[in-house]
Amino acid sequence: MINKLLPTATAGSLPKPSWLARPETLWSPWKLQGDELAEGKRDALCVALNDQRNAGIDIISDGEQTRQHFVTTFIEHLDGVDFEKRETVRIRNRYDASVPTVTGAVSRQKPVFVEDARFLRGQTDQPIKWALPGPMTMIDTLYDSHYKSREKLAWEFAGILNQEARELEAAGVDIIQFDEPAFNVFFDEVNDWGIAALERAAEGLKCETAVHICYGYGIKANTDWKKTLGEEWRQYERVFPRLQKSSIGMVSLECQHSRVPMDLIGLLRGKKVMVGAIDVATDIIETPEEVADVLHRALQFVDADKLYPCTNCGMAPLPRHVARGKLAALNAGAEIVRRELSA
Ligand SMILES: [Zn+2]
Repeated sequence: MINKLLPTATAGSLPKPSWLARPETLWSPWKLQGDELAEGKRDALCVALNDQRNAGIDIISDGEQTRQHFVTTFIEHLDGVDFEKRETVRIRNRYDASVPTVTGAVSRQKPVFVEDARFLRGQTDQPIKWALPGPMTMIDTLYDSHYKSREKLAWEFAGILNQEARELEAAGVDIIQFDEPAFNVFFDEVNDWGIAALERAAEGLKCETAVHICYGYGIKANTDWKKTLGEEWRQYERVFPRLQKSSIGMVSLECQHSRVPMDLIGLLRGKKVMVGAIDVATDIIETPEEVADVLHRALQFVDADKLYPCTNCGMAPLPRHVARGKLAALNAGAEIVRRELSA
């Protein structure tokens, strides 16, 4: 796919321009409407592409400029979910949120992101990565009054995601990534059916497939939760062994300023690993040396040709100048290690 050592990528989202949505806010309402909104989203996508290109990022994402939220926007396009009928549920056992209700059979009548992906494909010859929510994370942000089974609903979503993923692949996407922060919480379900549902979502794809498992955006509910996790974060230990046996090719995880023991990467032997070397929960921009330090430690447990320097998670809630600085730091840190490896 890419003929370069340590190709850099982002987990997915980047800040939106202030003319499109309120900055530093999740679920920020759009500032434009109708045709102006459609055009504004495309313009923002070009800005995100340009920011990544200027920083020297190798694998380009859309910066999630055309969606309000990484899970909700996908679900909004599906039948069977009533966004007017809301219930309060606990998201990932962590915080309460008012969520839509599954009231009937879920289905996808038309593509969700395929036109956006085709547009991005037309703007760059670099490899592009597209993120979709994973089945388990989708069910965790809904109230289900129809299937009344988390597993059954996850399998339905997996089939829908597979339709979307196949069309994204046909549109020229090189890596399709499923975001599964829920994998860090529901370990028994992950091993019982979560990874199997994920494989169903990726079934038949010939492009690269990835799963992103993080400790969440740098919002207060998540940073408070992290304080309760103790000295060592061993959550990945519960899911990596099964994931290592799965058909998913790449795993994206959180390593910068996290308390994840680096040797847990060794449980993924044979997989490509997107190592999070940028902390998204602080405005402080990493130095290239701090990025290189994480990569050095990761290299003890993953072969250099399978290491993809990345961000811990999405950067949507950060100020734009901070996100730009972090992109540049990511590339500069990777460059330090590339030079050492080729010396
Ligand atoms: Zn994340």
